[in-house]
Amino acid sequence: MAVFSRHAVLSAAYLMTRVPPSAIRNLPNTVMQEPSQEMSPPAIAATPLIVPRPEHAISRANISENALKVLYRLKQENFQAHLVGGGVRDLLLGHEPKDFDVATDATPEQVRQVFRNCRLIGRRFRLAHVHFGREIIEVATFRGSASGDGEEKDREMESGRILRDNTYGTIAEDAVRRDFTVNALYYDIASFSLIDYADGLEDLKAGRLRLIGDPEQRYREDPVRMLRAVRFACKLGFTIDPLTEAPLFELAHLLADIAPARLFDELIKLFHSGYGLDVFEKLRQYGLFGELFPATEDCLAREDHGFPITFVSRGLANTDKRLHENKSVTPAFLFGVLLWEPVRRRFEQYLANGEAANEAMFMAAGEICSRQQSLVALPKRFSLPMREIWSLQPRLEQRDGKRPQRLVTHPRFRAAYDFLLLRAESGEADPELAAWWTRFQEASGPERISMLEGAGKRRRRRPRRRNPNAASEAGPEATAAFESSS
Ligand code: ATP
Ligand code: MG
Repeated sequence: MAVFSRHAVLSAAYLMTRVPPSAIRNLPNTVMQEPSQEMSPPAIAATPLIVPRPEHAISRANISENALKVLYRLKQENFQAHLVGGGVRDLLLGHEPKDFDVATDATPEQVRQVFRNCRLIGRRFRLAHVHFGREIIEVATFRGSASGDGEEKDREMESGRILRDNTYGTIAEDAVRRDFTVNALYYDIASFSLIDYADGLEDLKAGRLRLIGDPEQRYREDPVRMLRAVRFACKLGFTIDPLTEAPLFELAHLLADIAPARLFDELIKLFHSGYGLDVFEKLRQYGLFGELFPATEDCLAREDHGFPITFVSRGLANTDKRLHENKSVTPAFLFGVLLWEPVRRRFEQYLANGEAANEAMFMAAGEICSRQQSLVALPKRFSLPMREIWSLQPRLEQRDGKRPQRLVTHPRFRAAYDFLLLRAESGEADPELAAWWTRFQEASGPERISMLEGAGKRRRRRPRRRNPNAASEAGPEATAAFESSS
């Protein structure tokens, strides 16, 4: 893919003309209305900036073939069809888009009639997904204003929050409904021109993230936009405009109303972006992290000897590095890192109360996970391996007999070992233990045995003696166990 410099693209784009399309002539003042609640008009141009093809650098050569197929097919059927969102934004910045989103005036049902390989998804926001093998092109119908005439109205709100929005309208109305100005740029397949209703090009050039409309109101409508602000600021290296930034310090509590499954999806986008460490720092700066991971935030706030912060940060930096090296990453490890500190503290409390290590870890993990699940839903296919990574931590300390040989064949050994390395690097686990496991894995068969023999010899020097009195000293349960086994 060709890489354009932001400057080159946008300076070329500045021979622009303002053309008033008929679509925006009737743009209403109130864009979204809850019954009996007046809303301020959004900051949006009544006349969009239209950048004709020769004056911008978006080329069809850089758009996925499947997205082009969808755009052309919709056009053939006499619908409007535009590329929008991250696809346009990232192409203008010279980044490779993660996916391509299409906006159209065809309703989801009409889109389904056009494409056989199409599924309608979502209740809150009905969308059409057009499937091409593993690639999905998301096709959204232009969102409209609740006050427009004639169009289908299906919007439900509660305390300023949008619960459902399937009211359709024009492209101009749709632009207002989008989140950030840089996400509201349209590439029209009919004319190959760029359409900008919200000064998105100006903000793109300035490296500025700005919400369309009144920021606080837009965060209240959908608090996930706070997380999106952090994600785009980190991913694009943009500064958040002061008016868009200010409410972030105040509104973290709104995340409590978001479905835990949606938060999980959003967190994966945030932390598996390759900029997880920046994201973590920004989320903490705005108080958003504590809303999502209160037990972890509590530990971080009570950091001892600088340890907790370095563990999470190192874990996230490690994930970022793996992503930049195109290595695999998994939510099991990520959440393992994010939740380890409260799990470890609870584990140590159980140990201090006399629990055996395995049991202590099992109980600590169970407690922290069940509290966390009510905020962010970690699917079982990730929470089970995450808990295995944790439960292997005390087992990695047992280096005698056949245990290490067995442990290296455990399906989760490698992840647990990586986890131990991080703990050692951050000063929480013994670096000698981590180094021993590194040597053990690299060692040949006989070398491994000699490493084990060392541990074995120590064990033989302290043979266990059966002392009938010992059982009674250990208390009634131990006595019972002793009696039943003898
Ligand atoms: P990327 O795909 O790179 O993560 P994106 O900007 O394309 O970024 P998507 O989640 O794919 O983000 O959404 C596509 C577009 O839909 C956005 O660019 C934005 O215009 C709009 N959008 C998505 N989520 C919201 C939201 N919560 N509120 C308003 N508009 C949104
Ligand atoms: Mg996208």
